[in-house]
Amino acid sequence: MSGPERVLIRARAVIPMDRKGRVIRDGAVLIEDGAISSVGTKDAVREPHAKDDLVIDEPYGLVIPGLIDIHVHLAQALIRGVVPDDVTLLSWLRDWVWRLQGVYDAEDGRASAELCVLEMLKTGTTCFLEAGLHRRYGLDGVAEAVTRSGIRAFLSKKVMDLRGYATVENALPEGMIEDGEQCLRDFLEMRKRWAGAGDGRIDVWIGLRTPGAVSDEMFARAAQLADELGAGVTMHLAEVEEDLRYFASRGHTPSSFLRGFGLLGRKRVYAHCVWLGDRDIEAFASTGTSVAHCPSSNLKLGSGVAPVVAMRRKGVTVGLGCDGGPSNDAYDMVREMKTAALLQKVFHGPSSMTCWDVLEMATVMGARALGIEERVGSLEVGKRADVVVLRLAHPSVRPFTDPASLAVYSATGRDVVHVLVDGRPVVLDGRVLTMDEERVLRNAEERLEAVLRKFGPERPAAPRDP
Ligand SMILES: [Zn+2]
Repeated sequence: MSGPERVLIRARAVIPMDRKGRVIRDGAVLIEDGAISSVGTKDAVREPHAKDDLVIDEPYGLVIPGLIDIHVHLAQALIRGVVPDDVTLLSWLRDWVWRLQGVYDAEDGRASAELCVLEMLKTGTTCFLEAGLHRRYGLDGVAEAVTRSGIRAFLSKKVMDLRGYATVENALPEGMIEDGEQCLRDFLEMRKRWAGAGDGRIDVWIGLRTPGAVSDEMFARAAQLADELGAGVTMHLAEVEEDLRYFASRGHTPSSFLRGFGLLGRKRVYAHCVWLGDRDIEAFASTGTSVAHCPSSNLKLGSGVAPVVAMRRKGVTVGLGCDGGPSNDAYDMVREMKTAALLQKVFHGPSSMTCWDVLEMATVMGARALGIEERVGSLEVGKRADVVVLRLAHPSVRPFTDPASLAVYSATGRDVVHVLVDGRPVVLDGRVLTMDEERVLRNAEERLEAVLRKFGPERPAAPRDP
């Protein structure tokens, strides 16, 4: 995929995230051959001259690094607003989400992935980690759609060989059960076909299902396989208190359980981690194990408050995740930054989580969790150009005062107007260049109807009438 060889972005302010607190007023970013070649004031960044160069001038623009969402369920975008809003995690999963996803076919899987990626691109996410794809979603169709969209992605193949959730047996419905050997074969096949696709934008990881659905043998094999291939591993961990009861029943804490299988370390990303204790936090910090903090999802499902302040203080890499369509209910990292800051403030005081802390989590820390901090996560010379421009023109973000504060507390993803991934423009003036937006939206409506028909007579009404 090719774009213009050089792109010059001039804006009211640039936040490069090269170090905390630096704002370049009247700034500019020059991109050459997909990489950042200059960042500074408009005067300091030389102007390109070739007529094919793309020049973006934004008098009310704020340039930030592309946002990195390290916990996404592509398959859940389709069922936003269908699942009841006010139920506990286990009922939410067992009675609704898994049963709905358990009737998906490859067309539904692809439609949901396209809708999800469309939303992410339009709201400034340039890179994401998928939590775990089931075979029935159509692995090639999803991977193809994601690659074609131009986004940077880490796609995980779900790996499981049991059917429980924590101490609850038989929690998973028939449609979500996969054979362990088949899971590993699918992962290997997917990795062979798609890792490195899209000029290296795509990687393929292992997405372990939650403890209770994975045997000890499978945990060990998955860890070994990931090590052999240099692949990352992701999993939901200690999201609700039931998870702790499972680990305790095995004589473990979350981290001692993982350590036994070789599942602590770099490129190991655990989502939620609401119920980690001090020893777990120490173990995560000393091994370079990462956490995907998902504040909106934790708030909505009443899961608890993750000890993010303690984790960061101890040196754990904590990134942000929007989680899923029915738990957030948006894949908007700009809004997620605000939620992350507010949630810690109410528990630990107003200075416990600043706008700079959450900007770091959404960019630099996300990149570190995925093992790509040398390539993306900040606007620095030599890095690949994953760049987002917000247009702070709406009354809700005026006057143009402190840009970091505005980006976190006043803006939403709908203020994003331009997005570049790998130096290539994928969103210009709010329009996604790589996808037919109308088709994606229409298709999502049709596929949701199909899913609900397959779901059967107990189906929830969608859209719900008041
Ligand atoms: Zn999740």
